[in-house]
Amino acid sequence: MRKFKWKRALLVLLLLALTGSCMPQFFYTNSGTSISHGSPGNGSLEQGYLMPYRLENAKYFSLSSYYLLGNGYLNSKVYQTLIDAYARCEETCPKIKFKYMECSSKHGGKQLIHRTHRNGMSVDFMVPKKNGEEQSTFFDHLGIWHYFLEFNSEGQLSLNSNVEIDFETMARHILALDDAARKNGLGIKKVLLQIDLKDDFYRTPSGKAVKARSIYFAKYLSPTVDKFHDDHYHIDFKLL
Ligand SMILES: [Zn+2]
Repeated sequence: MRKFKWKRALLVLLLLALTGSCMPQFFYTNSGTSISHGSPGNGSLEQGYLMPYRLENAKYFSLSSYYLLGNGYLNSKVYQTLIDAYARCEETCPKIKFKYMECSSKHGGKQLIHRTHRNGMSVDFMVPKKNGEEQSTFFDHLGIWHYFLEFNSEGQLSLNSNVEIDFETMARHILALDDAARKNGLGIKKVLLQIDLKDDFYRTPSGKAVKARSIYFAKYLSPTVDKFHDDHYHIDFKLL
């Protein structure tokens, strides 16, 4: 009987702790103008803006990352850039459902699985996937585990080679982000994508347009960083 009470007390404590961690995200209101201090690798964020969990054609990728870890915050200008870019994608990528992944925490600083993402100027975007001509979203629902998916150098998913990265859609999204960034006083500082995937990306019509705009893609990545940038592309924004 006593043991049962302890278990129940522990469960209540756990639930209270979980609720306490999620609460700030439930009641957060975006206001004012954000200030990003330092760099994505060593910085902090003031007046962060919390991305909506869901937009018309895009959604945050993980409930636990958003509510429990509180990793959906951005600089207000980056926030507006994402909102504007997804609105544009409704026209340039009709019917496509996008997912945005980890951003920063409310006040920036260290992140659990990232070396950067510390000042609200970095965002991870899930690669859009297709199976034939149709969008494939089956593997988009893995939450945090999506970071561990692996693709070969042609962009085919190791778990199912019929599913591959939709490089054309990805490039259209980056073009929309570039346009929206300029409108909001920002620029794309750099894109991180697995080195072996870049040739497939640049081969698409919109990939060629990305190249023509000289949007910078990292030319070299350490093996560890390279390994993890096949299921998503990371973008650092800069103030202009
Ligand atoms: Zn990242």
